[in-house]
Amino acid sequence: MSAYDVIIIGAGPGGYVCAIRCAQLGLKTAVVEGRETLGGTCLNVGCIPSKALLHASHLLHEAEHNFAEMGLKGKAPSVDWAQMKAYKQKTVDQNTGGIEFLFKKNKIDWLKGWGSIPEAGKVKVGEEVHEAKHIVIATGSEPASIPGAEVEIDEKTVVTSTGALELGKVPNEMVVVGGGVIGLELGSVYARLGTKVTVVEFLDAITPGADAEVAKTFQRILKKQGLEFVMGAAVNKVETKGGKATVHYKLRKDESDHTLKADTVLVATGRKPYVEGLGLEGLGVKLTKRGQVEVDDHFQTAVKGIYAIGDAIPGPMLAHKAEDEGTALAEMLAGQKPHINYGLIPGVIYTAPEVASVGETEETLKEKGRAYKVGKFPFMGNARAKSVHQAEGFVKMLADKETDRILGCHIIGPAAGELIHEICVAMEFGASAEDVARTCHAHPTFSEAVRESALACGDGAIHA
Ligand code: FAD
Repeated sequence: MSAYDVIIIGAGPGGYVCAIRCAQLGLKTAVVEGRETLGGTCLNVGCIPSKALLHASHLLHEAEHNFAEMGLKGKAPSVDWAQMKAYKQKTVDQNTGGIEFLFKKNKIDWLKGWGSIPEAGKVKVGEEVHEAKHIVIATGSEPASIPGAEVEIDEKTVVTSTGALELGKVPNEMVVVGGGVIGLELGSVYARLGTKVTVVEFLDAITPGADAEVAKTFQRILKKQGLEFVMGAAVNKVETKGGKATVHYKLRKDESDHTLKADTVLVATGRKPYVEGLGLEGLGVKLTKRGQVEVDDHFQTAVKGIYAIGDAIPGPMLAHKAEDEGTALAEMLAGQKPHINYGLIPGVIYTAPEVASVGETEETLKEKGRAYKVGKFPFMGNARAKSVHQAEGFVKMLADKETDRILGCHIIGPAAGELIHEICVAMEFGASAEDVARTCHAHPTFSEAVRESALACGDGAIHA
């Protein structure tokens, strides 16, 4: 038995970041991880492999559609799927290996195996029981199934995002159930590789919770890229026979029944917290109705000395939210008083163009009855975007009507996932749209579109 200040269960972005920060602050730290590699969902089967495939398939799309116009002649590359998956795996291995290096550097013990909590202050891994003053549940999440539908996921024909990253071949036809971030990212990968992709979405708009104007533009752009959409449809059954699938759905507007055939069905209807095998029932740790671990403002569960962070607790299921909670909790355990601004967690969709947002949307502001103004600037007016064939989309800034303080920003366009951070920092400092508008931005950059949207909140953009 070994004794630690902190034992963290789960080495995803929440757990591994918490561990590194704990170690930096002088706490004796161990992490329990049952996977063969560190990094959790994000590094192994989430953020990182999906971005590798998005990158490779985007370059193919560029070669097929934009190279010739730039004077780059010749046949576009053909797809060697096995090699593309090998490239994806190499990217994953580099990243997970990097975490292992950081654990060694920070003298963090990796307790290999699946952990449980027999009682407060103790963590069991295999036959070994370890003691810890503080235990952190950072066990993340797993894919959810289709609510109320008859469906069996075999990870071959009917797959979750995990299976979708490992398909044996590029399918001819794919049905994606769920028009959220994961479904649209992976759907675009396969659409670019030549698959006929149909997205079936229960609601009338994709990317629920997004600014409605952005969601509409995004759907239009994806349609232009070849993705098809069936909106307002409830999938109630997925049948498989001989490696083919039939998706049964009911249109909500008229209750009519329909089917779609596909080689692969990607179930991307969200994720649910994963806390199985921890033994929480016997401990008195409370769960919400959605199965998330209930915590207070200090990430403390109903049991003293047991904390939880990341996808396992309420809030957006995002790697950077988990990381920030890991850092904050470590600092709290070391006696500091950190703070997370949950109103300023950016969300990014890594398609081409990218979609990024932070803060309020027009819809949430209307709901709150808050007076606001909109500054919008199209990338069509941005010289850099036009010169690199990426002039689709816009930046939309929302500011308080009276004070001009920035309340939110929504970007669909090139490098949106990078551009959004200027506004995250500005909002963290309580900046007004005029503050951003008066800040010199280099030319020619995509960032000028952000400045122009800030100008549009005032007297008007220059290039619109
Ligand atoms: P996880 O990363 O899920 O890690 C939990 C770890 O705990 C796992 O490794 C698991 O094996 C381990 N574990 C669980 N139970 C035990 C136990 N009892 N004992 C030992 N170990 C245990 N987010 C973004 O911000 N950006 C993106 O681009 C993005 N892309 C995504 C793409 C896909 C396809 C998917 C599926 C997710 C994506 N996400 C993205 C979401 C992101 O992966 C999660 O929000 C993030 O991984 C949550 O981190 P976490 O530390 O809470 O949990």
